[in-house]
Amino acid sequence: MALLHISEPGQTSVPHQRRLAVGIDLGTTNSLVATVRSGLAETLADEAGEHLLPSVVRYRKGQGPQVGQSAKEAAPTDPMNTIVSVKRLMGRDLQELRKNEFAAYEYAGEESSVPRICTEGGDVSAVEVSAEILKVLRDRAEASLGGELTGAVITVPAYFDDAQRQATKDAARLAGLHVLRLLNEPTAAAVAYGLDKKSDGVIAIYDLGGGTFDISVLRLKKGVFEVMATAGDSALGGDDMDRAIARWIMAQAGIQDDADHAQLRRLLHEARRVKEMLTDADETSVEITRMDNTVWRGSLTRMQMNELINSLVKKTINPCRRALRDAGLSIDDISEVVMVGGSTRVPMVREKVEAFFNKPPLVDIDPDKVVAVGAAFQADILAGNKPDEAMLLLDVIPLSLGLETMGGLVEKVINRNTTIPVARAQDFTTYKDGQTAMSIHVLQGEREMVQDCRSLARFSLRDIPPMVAGAARIRVTFQVDADGLLSVAAEEQSSGVQSSIEVKPTYGLEDSEVEQMLRDSMDHASEDMVARMLREQQVEADRAMEALTAALQKDGEKYLDDEERAGIDQQMDSLQTVRQQDDIEAIKLAIARLEKTCAGYVERRMNGSIQDAMSGHKIEEFES
Ligand code: ADP
Ligand code: MG
Repeated sequence: MALLHISEPGQTSVPHQRRLAVGIDLGTTNSLVATVRSGLAETLADEAGEHLLPSVVRYRKGQGPQVGQSAKEAAPTDPMNTIVSVKRLMGRDLQELRKNEFAAYEYAGEESSVPRICTEGGDVSAVEVSAEILKVLRDRAEASLGGELTGAVITVPAYFDDAQRQATKDAARLAGLHVLRLLNEPTAAAVAYGLDKKSDGVIAIYDLGGGTFDISVLRLKKGVFEVMATAGDSALGGDDMDRAIARWIMAQAGIQDDADHAQLRRLLHEARRVKEMLTDADETSVEITRMDNTVWRGSLTRMQMNELINSLVKKTINPCRRALRDAGLSIDDISEVVMVGGSTRVPMVREKVEAFFNKPPLVDIDPDKVVAVGAAFQADILAGNKPDEAMLLLDVIPLSLGLETMGGLVEKVINRNTTIPVARAQDFTTYKDGQTAMSIHVLQGEREMVQDCRSLARFSLRDIPPMVAGAARIRVTFQVDADGLLSVAAEEQSSGVQSSIEVKPTYGLEDSEVEQMLRDSMDHASEDMVARMLREQQVEADRAMEALTAALQKDGEKYLDDEERAGIDQQMDSLQTVRQQDDIEAIKLAIARLEKTCAGYVERRMNGSIQDAMSGHKIEEFES
């Protein structure tokens, strides 16, 4: 529980500079940006007063990308240069895209590289397309809030995998946005309704958008949302309703199946208008211009439309059943149902959902804005605007926890954003022959190198029985309890030697520091990778040279003639030289050369030591 700060009488708390932070719903059909002002979340509109930005980007020759409504209007006539539903392409490889009916573009690039969509305006990746959408939202937010953004919370479907999440993050970085956190869309919707502040329970989030249907079952436990199950249909949404209504209009107006592109576009446009009208009206007029320029006029009632879309709405119920079954729950276990997505405005959808879950769903917040609103609340907290609610962050580990390994590298044991309490174990081994102690250095942070992370604690594991390098099995267990307390224990498995320590990982680390470290880890991600690879190769080189030197000292003379010995010394010298430089490939090559030169020696030595070991022992002694 967070404690509230109360200032002394007569002293008001210091007014602090509000950090500008936004929540972004990067949708398949539409995207939105929202922020919190005076405690209230609101979505931000463009100059024309539109809140929804169609997630469509068009690339033309010699012109900058066109984003939003105007691009959307061009989609039917310029389909190959106009990218719609780019969210379906995120984090996917070429093979996956070629199988995806929604991703019928021309692609360039090798099988193994990031696929690029070929357009008149150049080849673009899904990440770049998404970044264009995010840029427009960022500009809109900065114009409307009058300043640079501290950061953004961007929502992703709960089922998004690591590649899709990473791609989303990359898009944000490309758009010049600092990602405070990626948030699951259903969690954002629940947060928008303040369900995170309510008592524990199970929440169903029903999200019917333009082209996708998602049902998520979340469990709220002590302020932490856990995704229990997700299900859905990636090819079901409001667009299908539009098509059903368009087919009805065609039949009524005597329009044949050979309707051209422009005719189809008019039909779908009118169908959508009619559908949206019938959300509030019981009946509406319908009008369509045929290819011969004659006009058909008629009307459609909500009852009639319900019949046209009935089977589509019914199709959403099976995934709901599946999600409940996967979560091992029955309908009575669901305490709230949250409606998300523009298509949940359709009255029949609400009725069917209410009938299935046996309770009225939450619909007070605009279903197409609710995800962005929830993300905005989270962004406000993560940006540090609500110090009293900072405790909310303690429900997950804000920064990864790990251990120092050879070469000053950090091996992560518990990743950032893992919910607590949690326990994870990892096995390590010794580096040198006969090593009897191990120094354990606990670190926190996202960077690869020890010097860039925060040191939390050090302790030693002693009395490890002497063994050859790599033979000891040292299990290090990290345990973080519900209060955020970390304890680390180490045990050598064969001897049972133990050692442990308790550390408080979050204490002393300011939110701003956390933020800075996250920002650094993003800014330096690729730099870190290279640094890590170099350090790994250097450690590898040291290890090889150390082992070889020890062996040569012991029995070099026994197994090598002078010429062989000179060859090995020469390779060792050149490895020593390149090891000091920062050419990863050169070090690799030098290690390989050294190994090759030593191959004969190593083999003779091995045979010899087996014979040494066997002499004087009975065979049975070796069998255990
Ligand atoms: P996504 O999450 O896929 O980006 P949205 O949540 O923005 O999509 O939903 C878009 C869909 O919502 C479209 O099919 C649109 O026709 C539908 N929609 C929007 N407003 C209404 C309304 N008033 N009545 C019925 N459907 C609506
Ligand atoms: Mg959506």
